[in-house]
Amino acid sequence: MKNLKLTSINGDPNHKTVIAVDGVRIGIDFVVIAGPCSVESEEQTIKTAQEVKAAGAQMLRGGAFKPRTSPYDFQGLGLKGLKILQKAKKETGLPVVTEVTDPRDVSWVCEYADVLQIGTRNMQNFSLLKEVGKMKKPVLLKRGMYSTLKEWLNCAEYILAEGNPNVILCERGIRTFETYTRNTLDLSIVPSVKEVSHLPIIVDPSHGTGRLSLIEPMSLASMVAGADGIIVEVHFNPCEALCDKDQAMSPQMFAVLMKKLNLLGDYLKEIKKENGKVNERISPFGSEGLEMPNLITQHPAE
Ligand code: PEP
Ligand code: MN
Repeated sequence: MKNLKLTSINGDPNHKTVIAVDGVRIGIDFVVIAGPCSVESEEQTIKTAQEVKAAGAQMLRGGAFKPRTSPYDFQGLGLKGLKILQKAKKETGLPVVTEVTDPRDVSWVCEYADVLQIGTRNMQNFSLLKEVGKMKKPVLLKRGMYSTLKEWLNCAEYILAEGNPNVILCERGIRTFETYTRNTLDLSIVPSVKEVSHLPIIVDPSHGTGRLSLIEPMSLASMVAGADGIIVEVHFNPCEALCDKDQAMSPQMFAVLMKKLNLLGDYLKEIKKENGKVNERISPFGSEGLEMPNLITQHPAE
């Protein structure tokens, strides 16, 4: 892809960006970010944070600025919400991922956020991208709901070009003709990103499907596809959620998901080890240099 000077692997498939946030390593470990869609109250956020922490989540999500389709829907608590997130971090130790929607808010939101989220609707808000690019905080850049891989990586390029190398991509589903799901979760983008970019990529199966029953299978599938983690909406009392309640997992559901992810992670490690052994056996017969069966066909650079 042309002009992706900073985001592309530039011919080096071993070049991987790893972003450390309070000891959480995004780009090496499979990282689970969980929490409510929006911060609604201190009780709701702290209780949810405690539940997701107990189940094994490594980071807390929660929106204080909510970009809603209708201006009459709950818009988030703003500064009050950020202070609640800060308190939740103090209680649980979980670093905070929260959305910023306005370039004028970026510098002060950094005082409360460990990772700045750019939502799908703002993926191509270039003044916002430039502003977060001037900061040191990692940025979680969601894929625009109508965006191609190239458009998305160009947006990441805006952030890197301003001097901030810490970008995490997040697939959250795209608009297609399908209406059964809220969006169409494009898991093929995960290995595609890995082919062309060194940036880590996580998956949001909550917005990607909008259906509670699909979040677990899509989370497991994300791990198999090679994602660096997931971001999932969990509410301590989903029926009461002010935002996205149809896709909010209960803490119990989330705990089951975490158990399955851990089992799957162990299983995938075993497969990797087996691959290593197979290759050791192949080597003496003249296939040296073959590390993993690699079925990826390299197309000529565009
Ligand atoms: C969110 O994660 O809170 C959110 C609004 O997601 P998206 O921008 O992907 O719709
Ligand atoms: Mn949501």
